[in-house]
Amino acid sequence: MSDYERRIIAIHKNLGIPSDYASQSGLVLQPEDIDLVNIDDDIFCRPQKLSINAAGSWGVMKSQAEKDGVLLNVVSAFRSVDRQIEIIQKKRDQGHAMSAILKISAAPGYSEHHSGRALDITTPDCLPLTESFELTEAFNWLSENAQTYSFRLSYPRGNRFGVLYEPWHWVYYA
Ligand SMILES: [Zn+2]
Repeated sequence: MSDYERRIIAIHKNLGIPSDYASQSGLVLQPEDIDLVNIDDDIFCRPQKLSINAAGSWGVMKSQAEKDGVLLNVVSAFRSVDRQIEIIQKKRDQGHAMSAILKISAAPGYSEHHSGRALDITTPDCLPLTESFELTEAFNWLSENAQTYSFRLSYPRGNRFGVLYEPWHWVYYA
C-alpha cells in the first residue's frame, strides 16, 4: 500500500467515511498532481491550475469555443486533498449527514479534481454548478466538441458511481 493510500485511509477514518467507500462507489483513487500549471482565473478571480497536458488542451478548446461564439469559464480546476477535507468538514459542521455529503462531494482522495485533469465549467448567465448548465449553448458545444480535445463528462445522468448528475464537470482523459 502506498503512503498516499495510507494517508487517505487515515483521513477517511477521521471524517467518519465508511471504510467500504471505494468499493461501494466504484470511484478510483486519484493521485494528487504535482506538475501543475496556471490556467485562466476562475469566475471568482481566483487563480486556477491544471496538469500540463490538460491545461494545454483546455486553452485550445476554450479559444475554439470562443471562435464559435461560446464562452467557457472555469469554476474550479485542481483541488488538493486538504481542500477537499475542508469542504467536507464544513458541510458536516453545517449538520449534513455524511451519506448525503458523499453524494455531492467525492471523499478526499477520490475527487477527479486532485488529478489536475478535471474542470468545472460554466458560461455567462448560468448559475455555476447547477443542472441548468445542460440547457446552455456551452453545454451543447461541449457535448459535440469536447471529445476532440480529449475532455469528457465524468458524471452523466444515472452514472454508475451514484454521483449526482454533473453537466458542468469535465475531465481530460488523454
Ligand atoms: Zn467537478
